[in-house]
Amino acid sequence: MPKPNPRHPNFPIPGGPGLRAKGWRQEALLRLLENVLSVGEDPDNLVVYAALGKAARNWPSHRAIVKTLTEMDEDQTLVIQSGKPVGLLRTHAKAPLVIMANCNIVGQWAKAEVFYELQRKGLICWGGLTAGAWQYIGSQGVIQGTYEIFMRIAERRFGGDLSGRFVLTAGLGGMGGAQPLAGRMAGAAILCVDIDPERAKKRQQVGYLQEIAPDLDAALAMIDAAVREKKALSVGLVGNAAEIYPEIARRGVVPDVVTDQTSAHDLVYGYVPKGMSLDQVRSLREDGQGQLMAASRASIVEHVKAMLDFQRKGAEVFDNGNLIRTQAREGGVANAFDIPIFAEAYLRPLFARAIGPFRWMALSGEESDIARIDDLLLEMFPENRIITNWIRLARQHIPFEGLPARIAWLGHGERTALARSVNQLVASGELKGPIAFSRDHLDAGAMAHPNIMTERMRDGSDAIADWPLLDAMLLCSSMADLVVVHSGGGGYAGYMTSCGVTVVADGTKAADERLDHALTNDTSLGVIRYADAGYDESFEEIASKGIGHVRV
Ligand code: NAD
Repeated sequence: MPKPNPRHPNFPIPGGPGLRAKGWRQEALLRLLENVLSVGEDPDNLVVYAALGKAARNWPSHRAIVKTLTEMDEDQTLVIQSGKPVGLLRTHAKAPLVIMANCNIVGQWAKAEVFYELQRKGLICWGGLTAGAWQYIGSQGVIQGTYEIFMRIAERRFGGDLSGRFVLTAGLGGMGGAQPLAGRMAGAAILCVDIDPERAKKRQQVGYLQEIAPDLDAALAMIDAAVREKKALSVGLVGNAAEIYPEIARRGVVPDVVTDQTSAHDLVYGYVPKGMSLDQVRSLREDGQGQLMAASRASIVEHVKAMLDFQRKGAEVFDNGNLIRTQAREGGVANAFDIPIFAEAYLRPLFARAIGPFRWMALSGEESDIARIDDLLLEMFPENRIITNWIRLARQHIPFEGLPARIAWLGHGERTALARSVNQLVASGELKGPIAFSRDHLDAGAMAHPNIMTERMRDGSDAIADWPLLDAMLLCSSMADLVVVHSGGGGYAGYMTSCGVTVVADGTKAADERLDHALTNDTSLGVIRYADAGYDESFEEIASKGIGHVRV
């Protein structure tokens, strides 16, 4: 039975033993589609996160997808083009059930303005990374990544944790909403600025944000007290980051760590320029796009100048993956890229071993299934410090949203081993239902994003998008259940291509085979991608784990 969803009553959380589709594989994908809407930011408009990241092109497309998933056989493949189902073709039972290509625009045309026009004509939709691929699991999807970044900073600069440290950030949206909890888990006093009071309230309701301060004076006083007492605390503040950051700098306050996760990538549908109300911005989105783009960029220039100011005064400042430096540079801030990108600054050694944001969802809707897998992880990887620390923290701090799910940064071999053991638990009836395995698109072999994931690759291969395309083809030939190729929409148009994958552990032997091939080959390609770029960790991984790398 679906569960009521207090946040979005019209979008119940799927679950229960009853099938509407002809098999668990199809049912799983249907539940994942329902889930991304149940935890999404604006499900009435099919928007899941990141301003415009959508689960389907429009409601007729959504209805057609649901109907097809419900009626299709296991030896058919549903073909989806930018969120619209376009074909149901006979393949075979080992082929993917769903393949998708979302928002891929030919190079010279891949610009925000062209995307908006195609979207207006109803010809395209942007899937974000995990929205259009039905893999989004709420703010939890990004939280371990944010936490690991904070911990790398803590290890390098602050003696191991962020207690007694002030973290300043902005953006409490679908993904940015993970920041207050990740900061608190790392021990920090974290201040999160968002222009939209509803977003701040939402994060507080779901347990990710503790306090909302009435004004900047109160916010800074709360942070100051927490820093002095070395108390972990998250504080939200309603305001425009392009005003608040410079004002904090003007007062001579220098945070220890500064970042930002507003939707700065999208100057029309994401970022809110200073001096404008949300209503003004919403009306300009329809008929004043040029004005809005100019105003957003001007605000981002001030926002980033304040970040650079904090950096000059000694703060650890980084770009958390929202293209804010790119927008500022185009607005004339020549040194915007003095701010490093998180992927290169903190996480590349993990990606070089294909360790990245792996995740799983309990299709039964039962939290006990996730708890059992938490135990299994601890039994299987007792020596893995990242995992044991993370699971302990996640259990203690992370509330479930939508289908119970867990994220854990696992690497080559680990993902496959876990998934196959879980498949046995499904087969034996120890779990209440099948489990879907997936990962973020921001993963070793899966993404080309030269201003985020692949910035300053050792061999200069930043902009080469062959890797995610190869990944998608490999995953189709490795029997994954859903395979998708995404490129950027809105402000991300022309900036990225990525590949996503979902495989369902339904307890069958066929699932064992699918999990084994798909998950092993996905991370193999990730390690190979970084070996090809010259990273030593990847060569170690290839040698110790016997990955089939062809060296030229
Ligand atoms: P979202 O659209 O759900 O939320 C963005 C938030 O920013 C909103 O709450 C909005 O009110 C707020 N905002 C906009 N302009 C503001 C301003 N000037 N001052 C204060 N607040 C402002 O987006 P999201 O899903 O939270 O993603 C945020 C950004 O992070 C996007 O650019 C996304 O692509 C990026 N992202 C990065 C990673 C990563 O791996 N590091 C992962 C996911 C998303």
